[in-house]
Amino acid sequence: MFDTLSDRLQLTLGDLGRAKRLDEDAVNKAMREIRLALLEADVNFQVVKDFVAGVKAAALGEDILKGLDAGQQVVKLVHDRLAELMGSGDSKLAFGRPPTVILMTGLQGSGKTTTSAKLALHLRRQGKRPGLVAADLQRPAAIDQLEQLGRQIAIPVYRTDTSDPVRAAAEGLERAKGDGLDVVIVDTAGRLHVDEALMDELARVRDAVKPLNVLLVLDAMTGQEAVNVAEAFQRRIAFDGVVLTKLDGDARGGAALSVKAITGKPIKFASVGEKLDQLEVFHPDRMASRILG
Ligand code: GDP
Repeated sequence: MFDTLSDRLQLTLGDLGRAKRLDEDAVNKAMREIRLALLEADVNFQVVKDFVAGVKAAALGEDILKGLDAGQQVVKLVHDRLAELMGSGDSKLAFGRPPTVILMTGLQGSGKTTTSAKLALHLRRQGKRPGLVAADLQRPAAIDQLEQLGRQIAIPVYRTDTSDPVRAAAEGLERAKGDGLDVVIVDTAGRLHVDEALMDELARVRDAVKPLNVLLVLDAMTGQEAVNVAEAFQRRIAFDGVVLTKLDGDARGGAALSVKAITGKPIKFASVGEKLDQLEVFHPDRMASRILG
């Protein structure tokens, strides 16, 4: 995960951590390297700028350089700020009077349908009774795909024979409610690009099912583009959190490190493979440790 970024940061911080004495020049040099590493990892320019400025100001301003373990302290500073950049501990989903509705949104190919099934499995393992509603009527194969995934993990999937996604979502929800399920995950249509029609449809589906959680699924492999998608969604559909997918691939890290700073919304889950149990609750602190080795 984020191998190149990880290697580069580890190299820089390794030197820093081993340094017997640190002066301002050494800090500046390390910060330049961190800046380059982040930019090459496709982290948003402004985010990089603020991050590096923040670390530098803290490193130079807190009497750190006078201490014996100055290098270690700066390394810790980078770790903590990196964790902070990716969020605070607000990765939990909201649950209300059952059934709690979770609306899954995102572009086609982001991993939305797979993630819906993964989330259902994750929630069942926590003792919930989840169901899946197919409201992605753009791609007929998507409904079959969801049914197939549901079968694999023995989670009910509700489909309605209609070309109206709002009706499919509303009816699916009603039936799931009738079956006594307490969490209903609604898989919505994605398109290749954010467009008005997609947003209108999503807004209507959202108004029909009144989700307590709206999750935006973003493909981490697309780097900064994922963050652009998040911004475009945010202008039309308020989402509560992000699921970053394909973190097992050679994603460079840009999306993971920028999305919280740009949208203010936390990453709640990370998807790390195609298998249905490859969904992890996102912990910024652990992710920072993973990146820094
Ligand atoms: P949707 O169009 O957004 O519903 O996307 P799908 O759920 O159909 O996923 C698109 C492709 O990405 C499928 O081949 C999935 O198996 C794959 N995929 C989804 N999540 C992950 C992931 O975390 N890692 C990897 N390697 N592949 C994933």
